Amino acid sequence: MELTITELSKSYPNGVQALDHVSLRIGRGMYGLLGPNGAGKSTLMRILATLLEPDSGQARLGDTDMLREKDSVRRLLGYLPQDFGVYPKVSAQEMLDHLALLKGITRTTERKQVVEALLERVNLQDQRKKALAGFSGGMRQRFGIAQALIGDPKLIIVDEPTAGLDPGERNRFYNLLSEIGENVIVILSTHIVEDVKELCPNMAILHQGRLRYAGPTADGIASIQGRIWQRSIDKGLVNDYEQRHRVISSKLIAGRPLIHVYSDTDPGDGFTAVEPDLEDLFFSTIHGVREC
Ligand code: ADP
Repeated sequence: MELTITELSKSYPNGVQALDHVSLRIGRGMYGLLGPNGAGKSTLMRILATLLEPDSGQARLGDTDMLREKDSVRRLLGYLPQDFGVYPKVSAQEMLDHLALLKGITRTTERKQVVEALLERVNLQDQRKKALAGFSGGMRQRFGIAQALIGDPKLIIVDEPTAGLDPGERNRFYNLLSEIGENVIVILSTHIVEDVKELCPNMAILHQGRLRYAGPTADGIASIQGRIWQRSIDKGLVNDYEQRHRVISSKLIAGRPLIHVYSDTDPGDGFTAVEPDLEDLFFSTIHGVREC
């Protein structure tokens, strides 16, 4: 099954154009939707999750028209929103049971089996009786995935799922997502470059409502091969270098800024060539220095 998005546009009443003619084709596996805050990612995810109407454009999941056949989409979809809302004092098991009932699993014995299997899948079987309100960030996100998996969805959307997780929790969450991504379409929407780097063989970069890259992650990185240069500079000189070069990023390494610049040819000035990575692709894309 393939997800095909064609020329989707959406403006909010305040005049912000959150999506501007976005087209994408997404097949099975983990797909990264990367963009800075405000890029339009949640808007796109909410449209696909049938929670928001676009102004124009189309979206199809296999044979299903996602913008018209909303009931069918809801049966095919699992959604982990950015803000999962209030975590009540009920246990993980009770909550999953309740959500499974809402998703139409009405037979008690079947529901019990589904809930058991889901708790095991996300490794929360030992916490099944614990109130959700007392869950850590990582446990919450694993619970969020469990609820998204109810009803065997073909498309799973996770919006900013690793924000706020510590490195251990993040790794556990990565493993869980990549297992799930073997069989269905998983769209991982995030501003965290590392999430996409670790998990997604295919990806898109969204910025200011426009698609700036879509394709294999490795091809995007290959497209800037030989064009990224770095140098460590004195703290007070960042502005100076920004005047003379196309600086795409600057990070402090042991208290000194290490800057990366984009240049088709050797910029001189003490720079050395560096093997580009996804961060370089992301920053050169959103700074508009890479040819799209
Ligand atoms: P992201 O998920 O990439 O951070 P969003 O889709 O949340 O981006 O937002 C895209 C743009 O639309 C931003 O400029 C944001 O301020 C604006 N926006 C989002 N939701 C609304 C809304 N309900 N009303 C008005 N503007 C909104």
